[in-house]
Amino acid sequence: MALRFFNTMTRIKEEFRPIEDGHVRMYTCGPTLYDFSHIGNMRTFIFEDILRRYLKYKGYKVTQVMNLTDIDDKTIKASKEQGLSLSEYTEKYKKAFFEDLDTLNFDRAEDYPAATEHIPEMVAMVRKLLDKGYAYEAGGDIYFRISKKDDYGKLSHMKLEDLRAGASERVATDEYEKESATDFALWKGWDEADGDVFWETEIGKGRPGWHIECSAMSMKYLGEHFDIHTGGVDNIFPHHENEIAQSEATTGKPFANYWLHSAHLKLKEDKMSKSLGNFYILRDILDKGYSPVAIRYLLISTHYRMQLVFSFDILDAAREGVKRYNDFIDNLSDVTSDKNGGEASGLIDKAKTDFVEALDDDLNISEAFGVVFNIIRDINRLKAENKLSMAEADAVLEAMDGFDTVFGLRKKDDAALDSEIEAMIEARNQARKDKNWSEADRIRDELLAQGIILEDTPTGVKWKRKM
Ligand code: AMP
Ligand code: ZN
Repeated sequence: MALRFFNTMTRIKEEFRPIEDGHVRMYTCGPTLYDFSHIGNMRTFIFEDILRRYLKYKGYKVTQVMNLTDIDDKTIKASKEQGLSLSEYTEKYKKAFFEDLDTLNFDRAEDYPAATEHIPEMVAMVRKLLDKGYAYEAGGDIYFRISKKDDYGKLSHMKLEDLRAGASERVATDEYEKESATDFALWKGWDEADGDVFWETEIGKGRPGWHIECSAMSMKYLGEHFDIHTGGVDNIFPHHENEIAQSEATTGKPFANYWLHSAHLKLKEDKMSKSLGNFYILRDILDKGYSPVAIRYLLISTHYRMQLVFSFDILDAAREGVKRYNDFIDNLSDVTSDKNGGEASGLIDKAKTDFVEALDDDLNISEAFGVVFNIIRDINRLKAENKLSMAEADAVLEAMDGFDTVFGLRKKDDAALDSEIEAMIEARNQARKDKNWSEADRIRDELLAQGIILEDTPTGVKWKRKM
């Protein structure tokens, strides 16, 4: 079976065919830099990371663009409240965002364009929409006329005639509910609340609306018609609906072919969100002593279209799961036999086939983990029965490395770190030989502080990462 994605546009699983052979161009809506990203945001970003990694596993070249919303209603309001310039304010959250990506072992996208650096592209789009009659001015703002776009509502499956739409109904805010679908702001004329946040342009003094940011930046970096557009389900309406309307009205071409949306991370019954005040940021959870890899595992291991209710109990379970996964890989080096048991290669081949079959089915990651944990169980059995040779263990390790290019649970730089840890263990061994116990203890404590646990065994010192 070929790779299939559930397309929000058609509400069915469709076979994936990129526009350009072997190359996938995808746009992933990025963070609004008005606060730290919470782990709900991270769930959506990490689903996009898995999508990107799996496309690469399948051999595609991937061009991924993720925007940084460094101007919108929320960032302006918050920067004013703190008496900071907009860029001073957003810089802090931009830095934190990239730190979080590294902590959670993200594969970086090709581009992270910031909205404030693409105002001319947005102005050019609004200009075109005005010229084509899709946009009009009212009260100093410029609005998109949804009644002129016959298929408005096709992504969220709303019918235009069901909306109380019309030129008399307009919404100037960036976010609103379906019930108030009306003409929306492409460009917001300057008012006092904006302070020094404005651009003098050919369409007036002001700033862009949120939706136009993503249309202008996606088309600049990926072309007018590209393959995949993603976000969380809350982006479907109005954000993505509006992106489609303004982009297709500008170019007269279809915009993105596949629309993938991840379900929410919830806290009890509610969506995790800043406006509800019920959220955890990554740092809160790390401070409680959980490792980034356990958080990553938790966020990726539920299928992206299923809601995930966060709790520390399921994080504890994730910690156990990831420990089993990592212990298995670490302990493959224990095998010392030269004699092939003969069963491993068949298990590996089957696991590789089943892994692809699972992920080809709209990224069924729970099934893919099922495949991996089955092979872990089977290989552990072979090990216990002395039916695994070093060569077979190497082949298992190679397969696990391949699976991990998608899961990303083992840091890329682990190998480099390993040699540093081993050098410290060697220094500790020497200190012990020299009966320099305080130095030996100091090294042990330093390693512990880095999350490395030492075990003194009859065959020498072994180490593992604290999960
Ligand atoms: P924002 O920083 O608010 O612009 O959101 C960034 C991304 O996080 C968007 O794709 C949202 O759809 C997504 N998102 C927001 N809240 C959640 C949540 N509770 N669970 C999953 N994704 C979310
Ligand atoms: Zn967007």
